[in-house]
This record gives sequence, C-alpha cells and structure tokens, in this order.
Amino acid sequence: MASDQSWKEKYLQEIGAADDREKQWKAERNTLERMLVRTSLASEGQTPELDRLLVRVRKDLRKKKVDVEAWRELQEQIDRQVALLDEQPSSAGPAPQPVIQPQEPAPASESEPSPGDEQDLKDNTQRLRIARRVGQLLGQLLNQVSLEPAAEARARSLQQALLSSDHWEELREGLNHVAELVIAAVTRSQREFEAFLKRLDERLEVLRQHFSDQSIAQSGRLDATENLDREIREELERVGLDIEASDDLHQLKQSVSGHLESIGRAVGRFHAQETEREQVLSEQLSTMREKLAAMEAHSEQMQEQVRRERLRAMTDLLTQLPNREAWQERLSFEFNRWQRYQHPLTIGVLDIDLFKRINDSYGHKAGDRVLQLVAKELRDRLRNTDYIARYGGEEFVLLLPETLPDDAQVVMDKLRQHVSNLPFHFSGEPVTVTFSAGLVGFAPGDSEDSVFERADRALYLAKGAGRNCVRVFA
Ligand code: GH3
Ligand code: MG
Ligand code: MG
Repeated sequence: MASDQSWKEKYLQEIGAADDREKQWKAERNTLERMLVRTSLASEGQTPELDRLLVRVRKDLRKKKVDVEAWRELQEQIDRQVALLDEQPSSAGPAPQPVIQPQEPAPASESEPSPGDEQDLKDNTQRLRIARRVGQLLGQLLNQVSLEPAAEARARSLQQALLSSDHWEELREGLNHVAELVIAAVTRSQREFEAFLKRLDERLEVLRQHFSDQSIAQSGRLDATENLDREIREELERVGLDIEASDDLHQLKQSVSGHLESIGRAVGRFHAQETEREQVLSEQLSTMREKLAAMEAHSEQMQEQVRRERLRAMTDLLTQLPNREAWQERLSFEFNRWQRYQHPLTIGVLDIDLFKRINDSYGHKAGDRVLQLVAKELRDRLRNTDYIARYGGEEFVLLLPETLPDDAQVVMDKLRQHVSNLPFHFSGEPVTVTFSAGLVGFAPGDSEDSVFERADRALYLAKGAGRNCVRVFA
C-alpha cells in the first residue's frame, strides 16, 4: 500500500502541474484576446457592415467563450467585407454608404489631378498605418504563443510585409490572414490542453479501477481465509466427536486420516486460489508501472514545453534580453528580498541619447542594430548577479543587488565608456552612441513604483545635464 501512496502523490502533483499550465494558457489567451480587440478597434470606420462584424468579434470575446465554428463564418464575412472594400473605387472613401453599390467609372484625365487623388493618398496612408499597427500586434502575438513551424514561418513573413511593404495590394492578402492566425494560435493551445486532460482522465480511470480491483481482491482474500478456518475447525470437531464415539482403534485411525486428507485438500485449494490472486495482482501492478512511466515521460515533455514557451514570452525578440514582463517579476523578487534582509539594492534606468537621430539619419534597421549591440555590450559586461532588461524602445533597466548607488555609478560610468567606444559605422560614417542613466538605492518606505519613479527622475537629471552621464538620485 506504500507504493499506492506514492502513486497517489504523483497524481496529485500532476494535477497541480496541470493547474499551473492552465493558468499559463489562460494568460496567453488573454493577451491574444486583448490584441484582437485592439486590432478590431484599429480597423473600424471603413464600412458600417464591417464595423458591425467587428463589434460582434469584441462582444464574443467579452463572453469569454469562443465558438470556433461560428468564428470561421464570422471571419469569412469579414474577409468578404474587406474584399468589397478593396473592390470599391478608391475615391469612394470610408464614408458610411452602402458598400455594394457599383460606382460609375470616373472619366478623369491622367494629366489633371482630380480632387479624388488627394483622398486616395489619404486613404492609402491610413491603410498602411493600420497595416503597420497590425504588424506590430502580430509580432507581440508571435512572441507569446507557439505555432506549428510552417505557420510560424508564414506568420513571420506576413509580419515583415505588414511592417515594411508600401503596396496596399500586397498587404490586403496579408491582413486577411491575420484572423486565421489568431484563431489557429488559440485553438492549438486549447487543443493541446484538452488532449492532455483527456489523457490524464484516462489514466486516473485506470488507477481508480486498480484500487477497486485491489479492494475486491482484499475482501476475497478475507473470505477465503475465513472459509479455510471454518473448514479446518469443523473437521477438527468431527475428529473429536469420532474419537469420543469410537472404541475401535483401526476405525478411528481411518476416520482421522480421512479428516486429515480433507483438511489437506482445503489448504491446497486455498493455496491455489491465493497463487492465482497474487498473479492477477502482480500483472495489474506491472501494467500500472508502465502507465505511470508513460505518464511521467509525458508530463516532463509538457513541462519542458511550458518552460520554453514561458522563456519566449519573457524575452525581448530584438535584443534577446529579458523583456518588461520578466523585469516586473524580477523586480518583485528582489524587492521582497530587500524588504526581508535590507541588503543594499540599486536600481538603474538607462536611455540611449538622441536615438531618434540615428533612426532618422540612417534608418530604422540601423537603429535596431544599435539596440542589439548596445544590449549585448551591457549584458556581457555586467556581473552575473546583476540583472538587465529592455524596458521598451531604447530604454533599459537594471538591478544591482548588494551594491550601493555610489558603487553602481562607478559600474555605470565604465559601461558608458565601453558603449561610447563601440565602433559603429553607418553610410560610411563612424557613429558614436552614448547613453544617460539614473540610479537610486532602495530606501525605507519604498515601494517598487516609488523607487522606479526616482530612478526615472535621476535619468532626466542626467539628460538635463547634457546627456552621456550618470546621475544618482540623492
Ligand atoms: P533622448 O536623448 O532625449 O532620449 O532622445 P531620443 O531621441 O533618444 O528620445 P526619443 O524618445 O525622442 O526617441 C526614441 C526613439 O526610439 C523614437 C522611436 O521611434 C525609437 N524606437 C523605439 N523603439 C525602437 C525600436 O525597436 N527600433 C528602432 N530602430 N527604433 C526604436
Ligand atoms: Mg533616448
Ligand atoms: Mg527614451
């Protein structure tokens, strides 16, 4: 029964792990839903019919229960509306008029810019703006969920197109696929979890069956023992009666040996039954062991998958540094530790100087490259016990445990030197990149927010002091 106890514990642990996974999936699903709501809001104002469908999308999302089949239909309706939008002569504009009305072809001459041209340009800019926004949201979505490799590759190239292509015709197709991708991501998570629960359920049923067989066997064993006991007692009583009644020694001998044989047969039957019972139980036991081993293997696989997905959700794609979510988690952890042990803890906020100029002068790709290399430099040069994350844009945040702000300033000044010596070249010109930083130590009465706010103020002091310097908030 001791091994039954350990199976039971394993199953309880497994159920606990399943709960954790469910929480993780719920969080991912929430993110997806939020993104879908924002995407639908960004797409409004094209036609009343499309707006109505988008309102339905949001309403369904609020109900927290998505009927995938109904949604496929909804998505087809949306596709049709988007296609109709594209078929409209572009001078029609987003005015809320019946969409299906065919328009008279405008006999505008090529050389004279008609008043509609300006409108076309506006529409196009508007559409491209929406496509960029959808591209960004799609990027966030892809960081949060895992798709099958082929779908993931398609989604990545779609995201690239949404972010960089200026051809509306190309983007139109891409936008049509976004909803499909979102549905695929949600249903995949859901499917995997359902399959897992189903397997868990089957295995629990096997376990239940095993326990019930065991208790039947146990009561069978008690019955058999009682029977044997009774048979032996009755035979012995009969021997006693025969001894009392008999004067003939020969007859007595015969009767006693008859009773002994009878007892021997009863013991034999009992042994045979016991052996059979043991065999059945031992077979059940080995089946259970195999099932348990399979379940353990599966559970490890699931844990590994959850671990990978969690890491992905916590990592910034561009710089591979921990992202803002990961930062919040670490900040809480270090904050609690600081509250408990009161060891020095310094927080830093670091912002690249005049970064917009780099983007404006050499392009967004050059800006991205700067972010990647600065992030690598910072990470490689910090101690293992220090922590750095990308807070957003060109802003990074640091935690330096066991370090007083003045000592942290020495560390930051060294980092500043190293970053300003990085040999960037864009369009054949050497480019110097610098950063400013604000530092502050955790002090009694601080909360996570208050300390962050002071670090931010110190950063703005550094910017105000001419940039490329570090300020400690006194
Ligand atoms: P300051 O010294 O005052 O910080 O000036 P700044 O130009 O660095 O600050 P500002 O906040 O005006 O500009 C930050 C720019 O960073 C604007 C934004 O477009 C750009 N940016 C934010 N995220 C990214 C990114 O992921 N890649 C690139 N290339 N640029 C980014
Ligand atoms: Mg900046
Ligand atoms: Mg900034």
